[in-house]
Amino acid sequence: MDNLASSGVELPDLSLLKKFDIPAPRYTSYPTADRFRHDITPEDYAEALRGRKSSKNQKALSVYVHIPFCSDVCYYCGCNKIVTRDHGRATEYLDMIAREADLAKDCLTGDTEIEQLHFGGGSPTFLSNEELERVMGIIRGRFTLQEGGEFSIEVDPRSCDASKVRKLFSLGLNRMSLGVQDLNPDVQKAVNRVQPYELVRDTMQEARSAGFKSVNMDLIYGLPLQTRESFAKTIEQVIELSPDRIALYHYAHLPNFFKPQRMIRDADLPSSLTKVGIMFDAIRNLTANGYRYIGMDHFAKETDPLSIAQKNGTLQRNFQGYSTRADCDMVALGASSISKVGRIYACNPREIDPYYEAIRAGHLATVRGFRLSDEDELRHWVIMKIMCQFEVRKQEVEERFGVSFDETFAWELKHLAHYEKHELVELHPDRIVVSPKGKIFVRAVAMQFDRYLRESDRAGGYSTIA
Ligand code: SF4
Repeated sequence: MDNLASSGVELPDLSLLKKFDIPAPRYTSYPTADRFRHDITPEDYAEALRGRKSSKNQKALSVYVHIPFCSDVCYYCGCNKIVTRDHGRATEYLDMIAREADLAKDCLTGDTEIEQLHFGGGSPTFLSNEELERVMGIIRGRFTLQEGGEFSIEVDPRSCDASKVRKLFSLGLNRMSLGVQDLNPDVQKAVNRVQPYELVRDTMQEARSAGFKSVNMDLIYGLPLQTRESFAKTIEQVIELSPDRIALYHYAHLPNFFKPQRMIRDADLPSSLTKVGIMFDAIRNLTANGYRYIGMDHFAKETDPLSIAQKNGTLQRNFQGYSTRADCDMVALGASSISKVGRIYACNPREIDPYYEAIRAGHLATVRGFRLSDEDELRHWVIMKIMCQFEVRKQEVEERFGVSFDETFAWELKHLAHYEKHELVELHPDRIVVSPKGKIFVRAVAMQFDRYLRESDRAGGYSTIA
């Protein structure tokens, strides 16, 4: 056992890893998106938007914009994207975003000030400076950006020169997430994403000098040709660049599902043991260099708002990952985006053509989703507490939802006894705590409270650590 006492996380030994590294959801929503149903319609979503003002506790508003285009394909990619060199395609797409924003805005009641805005993809920086200006105009024309809000964008350093970095900041964006993945040139070639260290460094420096408050870097372990040594060097370089946050995702090789992954040779992939080594080395190095282990695969500087929110017990989780802001109503625009307003999750079509068709027909594009019951809301809350704070206080649940914790979760408590036996959780009379040793398995602990997973035989398709 590897005890990183000061960082609050203990790395498990291999036998424990073998036992508890089970496929588990990442819980960016509850229920997870694979449980969403086809009987949620555009009208259900519209009704949720219309009912917002009258809801008992009106939530703050958040907007997500999905830009699906990429100029080149990365071989590891499992995202919903359109690979094209035809930049003209963005014009029509932005027309649709504008119309969809109008449709949502026409139904929306209550405050239209947005506290969080996020551009994801695909590659939002596929858009030219003029198109970025246009899309921000679309948002600002329909919503008000809150003073001090979090406005972020995913940036591909290969399509974001200095002028684009400055443009993003001048448009009001104040956070960026840089797609880095790995800085080793051989690994970059093997995944068809060549972006030399100097390019990443220069983008980072531009972001700082433009005034970006926070920069995140996304990394991936498990890519072809990675070794413990090569990735330790990447981590060293990343630490030197000093991003505020780091996400270190596990690459899941599923060539039957994701066509680009067929370009990756099985023989080049690191073994499970190497992947565990890479991940654990990274946890050791990052926590020894001032980063807090937030959970799963996320790290933040101790002074970063994510770390502060976790210490204060206010950390949240949504489709964009961990968030410092209270559970917001999320209006999501674009193909494949998922909105959540009140008790309704509403997904747009993954493909661009049916998305265009719905918007052209003059209605919201929802094709599936979910309506949360009282019990779903309760379980959502408990799961998010475990994922974000590593702790659930029974009294808080009882006061908030008017239920007896021990009676409602008798099945879960019984099953958690197995985790307690291995010192992964502590079952106190008044609370459940994920122990330092259990933090790495937090998804598996949270999964015990997932009623839909328990009642179905569909446990596959989720990722593991190794
Ligand atoms: S990983 Fe990102 S940039 Fe690469 S193809 Fe996928 S969506 Fe595009």
